[in-house]
Amino acid sequence: MQRAIIHLDMDAFFASVEQLDDPRLAGQPVIVGGSLDRGVVCACSYEARAYGVHSAMAMAKAVRLCPSAIVRPVRKGRYQEVSRQIFAIFGEYTDRVEPLSIDEAFLDVSGCERLLGTPPAIARAIIARVKQETGLTVSAGVAQNKFLAKLASSRCKPAGLLVLEPEQVDAYLLSLPIEALWGVGPKTAEQLHRHGIRSVAELRQLERSSLETRLGQLGGVLYELCRGRDEREVERPSEPHSIGAEETFTADLSAAEDLNRELLQLAVKVSGRVRRAGLRGRRLTLKIKYADFSQMSRSRTVAAGLATTDPVFQTAKRLLLDHRQGQRPVRLLGIYLADFVTETSGQQALFADDQASKRSLDAAIDTLQERFGDAGIKRATLLEGSSSANRRKPPR
Ligand SMILES: [Mg+2]
Repeated sequence: MQRAIIHLDMDAFFASVEQLDDPRLAGQPVIVGGSLDRGVVCACSYEARAYGVHSAMAMAKAVRLCPSAIVRPVRKGRYQEVSRQIFAIFGEYTDRVEPLSIDEAFLDVSGCERLLGTPPAIARAIIARVKQETGLTVSAGVAQNKFLAKLASSRCKPAGLLVLEPEQVDAYLLSLPIEALWGVGPKTAEQLHRHGIRSVAELRQLERSSLETRLGQLGGVLYELCRGRDEREVERPSEPHSIGAEETFTADLSAAEDLNRELLQLAVKVSGRVRRAGLRGRRLTLKIKYADFSQMSRSRTVAAGLATTDPVFQTAKRLLLDHRQGQRPVRLLGIYLADFVTETSGQQALFADDQASKRSLDAAIDTLQERFGDAGIKRATLLEGSSSANRRKPPR
C-alpha cells in the first residue's frame, strides 16, 4: 500500500509567537535569543531573515546585520503551551504522530482516506485548525515517505502546502541541488563538489558502491534518497517507564505533618510532569528511606490512573500511613508513577470524576511551573509552616 505522510512545521515558531503576543512586533524583524555579548539566535522572523539573520548565528553578528531588529528573550513555557495546542490538533487526525521538535512532526495518515479525506485535504484541514486555534501558521509537506514530506514542507514556507504525488517525485528531485538531501551538510556537500557533483541529477549517475566508498554508510542512504526512497516508519515516541521525584531532607523528619507537607510538594511535582507528558499513571510507588539508610518501597494500583495532585497526594499519604514502621525518623521520601495510559486512550471520561476545579488549579500550577520552574509555585498548604524552615530544624 502506498503510504501517506504529512510533515508539519510551524513557521519561524518562537518569533511568530512573540509577534502574536505583542501586536507591535507584527511585520517587524524579530530575533529571539540569548544575550547580545555571548548568546545565539534561537529563532528569527522572516523580516529578520531578509537581512541574512538565521538561527544559531551569534547574537552580536545578527544585530550587526539587522540593527533595527527587536530582540526578545526565549519564553520556553509559552512555546510549550502553544506546542501542546498544535500536537493536540495533530492527534485528532491520527495517533501515528512522531514529534521531531517542539514545533515539528510527522503524521502517518495512510489508510485514513475514507474517514478523514485525502492526505492533502487532511493537511489543509490541519493548517486551518492551527491558524484558527493558535493564530499561527504552519507549513505542510505531503508525500509517500518521511524524507519527501519534510523536503516538501521545507520548500513551501511560510504558510505553504506542497503535495508531491508519486509521479512528480522524480522530476522534482532531479531539479534540486544535493544540499536539499537529508544528511548533506556543508562538509558532505564540499566532498561531493570536489568530485564535480552538485545536483541530485549528477548524484544519480553514481553507483551505490562508489557512493559508499566515498561516504561510507551515508553514501548508501544518499543513493536511496536521491531516488526518493525512504522506508523509515513514523515512530511514536516511547513512553517513559516511570516519572517520579524524591527529596532528601536536610534534617530527618518524624512528625506526620512534616512528612505530609513533603509528600504534597512531591505530588505537585510528579503529577505536573505526568500531565505535561499527557499521561495518567496507574501504579503509584512510595519510597521511604529511614535515618539509618534502610529503605522500602510500597505500591498501589489505581485502575483509572492518576494525573492530578490531590489523588496522587492522598494515595501516597495512605501508603505512608499503612507502611511506615513506627515513628522511625525519615531521611528521604519519593513518589513514582508508572504503568501509564495516555489521556487520549479512552480514559478521558474518567476525568469527569476529578473535580473540575482541581483540574483547573493543576493547570494553573503547570503554567507557573513552566514559567518559573518547580521552585516558583507552592500550594498554600505548603507555605503554611514554611517547609524549608522545617527542613533545617535539627532532628527531634
Ligand atoms: Mg519550525
